Amino acid sequence: SDHSLEYPRSPSGMDWASHYPAYAVKSNEGEGRDESRGEGETAKPRSTSKQVEIADIGCGFGGLLFALAPKFPSTLIIGMEIRTSVTEYVQEKVRALRVQHREDGGYQNAACLRANTMKFLPNFFEKGQLGKIFLCFPDPHFKQRKHKARIVSYTLNSEYAYVLRPGGVVYTITDVEDLHNWMVEHFEKHPSFERVSKDEQEKDDCVEIMRNETEEGKKVTRNNGIKYVALFRRIEDPPWP
Ligand code: SAM
Repeated sequence: SDHSLEYPRSPSGMDWASHYPAYAVKSNEGEGRDESRGEGETAKPRSTSKQVEIADIGCGFGGLLFALAPKFPSTLIIGMEIRTSVTEYVQEKVRALRVQHREDGGYQNAACLRANTMKFLPNFFEKGQLGKIFLCFPDPHFKQRKHKARIVSYTLNSEYAYVLRPGGVVYTITDVEDLHNWMVEHFEKHPSFERVSKDEQEKDDCVEIMRNETEEGKKVTRNNGIKYVALFRRIEDPPWP
């Protein structure tokens, strides 16, 4: 259930510094009251010198997160996962990798937090904050009556569109053909997205990483399964009539 999940009331209420301590901004710490916070939430959240720009939704055990971190060393990357034990595993691995890489500062840009991304995504990110969103091997929810549990839908796509900047990209991959078709259909009919051409898709290094570094991607390779990939670009909002 969501009872034990904690959400910031708004993105400015997030204590990002606790996730990315190497990027913590020290000024104004603990000073005054932040209007974006609710009753009883008096401590001012600590911010970071950079904002998160890449989100891995339903990151599982973090294979993609740990592969992206050295590829984009100066970009903050967040894995979001609903299962407590899995989130803790990833957080523990982040701590261990940071210690191992104390000399070169590696993995300071990677973090994981527990969240139900189907419910509160805009509480974490400002409008247009993200450049990339990864939806890797989402749970397929095969049965018709379970389709509303899928993390791609018209409504959720509007949330992805809100947090993505124009030009930003949603990356999807699955081994379930029906889910792939569902994701393509729902993104293509959404006015804020256009599909990225196959040509451009195959030139994007993140596609290779997503195919080979996710835990599910590795599993599908072992089973000689097919991986369906589709990328969608956030287009500019049309001008008001
Ligand atoms: N992305 C990883 C990969 O490719 O190896 C994990 C894929 S796994 C099949 C789907 C993951 O999404 C699970 O770890 C599950 O707990 C997580 N998940 C499902 N619904 C979620 C939600 N609403 N919010 C956050 N995570 C969710």
